[in-house]
Amino acid sequence: MKRRTFITLGSLAGAGLLLNHTTMGSTFLNSLTEQDYLMPVLFMGHGSPMNAIESNSYTEGWKKLVKDIPTPKAILVISAHWETKGTKVLAVPQPKMIYDMYGFPKPLYEVNYPAPGSPTLAQEIKDNVKFTEIGLDHDWGFDHGAWSILVHMYPEATIPSFQLSLNTTRDMQWHYDLAKELSFLRKKGVLIVSSGNIVHNLRYMAYMNEKPLDWALEFDAKSTELINNGDHASLINYKSLGSAAEISVNSAEHYIPLLYTLALQQKDEPITYANHDDKDTLIGSFMRSLKIG
Ligand code: ZN
Repeated sequence: MKRRTFITLGSLAGAGLLLNHTTMGSTFLNSLTEQDYLMPVLFMGHGSPMNAIESNSYTEGWKKLVKDIPTPKAILVISAHWETKGTKVLAVPQPKMIYDMYGFPKPLYEVNYPAPGSPTLAQEIKDNVKFTEIGLDHDWGFDHGAWSILVHMYPEATIPSFQLSLNTTRDMQWHYDLAKELSFLRKKGVLIVSSGNIVHNLRYMAYMNEKPLDWALEFDAKSTELINNGDHASLINYKSLGSAAEISVNSAEHYIPLLYTLALQQKDEPITYANHDDKDTLIGSFMRSLKIG
């Protein structure tokens, strides 16, 4: 795949240059036309950054979740670890690695994920989203919420990948509403990957509990029930779900990516879970991941 052929659909259509496969062959250019299917959307419970350099049941669960997904034309990651004032989209041709974690073994700081970025698609998102102003960012790269899962999902690192930030000045409903405007990407074969954790409170991480924490189990079950019932309103208003929800969501940056995934669900789209048997974890974070579509 050549990045220089990655031209926006809008600019081509406007110039009357939108050619089909029979005239141009199978290029990335053509692949930006609408697909006859909707690309699934993912929420990945990313857990510890150490998963990046390990092979365990979680990394196997991620691989299983993506194995039947058609090869994406591009990957947009919405990571818990990129929070900004205002919404930004990464618009660099070659994202750098960001090692935004501390005190881990050296090999973790040597992980490289050399996938190209996609400034053109970033611009296309900026142009298409009317709900809010999206800024083009040239400073960020792949943070560990992105690379720790991408190295397992798409180890070849050849698919153009980039990130959308979480606007820290906005509430849950706002994030959910913004996400709905990203649905055009699904039609173009772009895989939208949200990366966080539904149950996530690291204040309990150092506690060697003898069994899973009650509040973690309670909110994992409750949130799954709501996801299965399509009750997104209750998940948006998680604070009204009681103390188990409030402790689990905690500072919310790991939970908000879930709302992006749910907002992109179309009527009657099936949900597949991975890593949902993670009940013996002795920390305040579960790994439940899901695919919609
Ligand atoms: Zn994280």
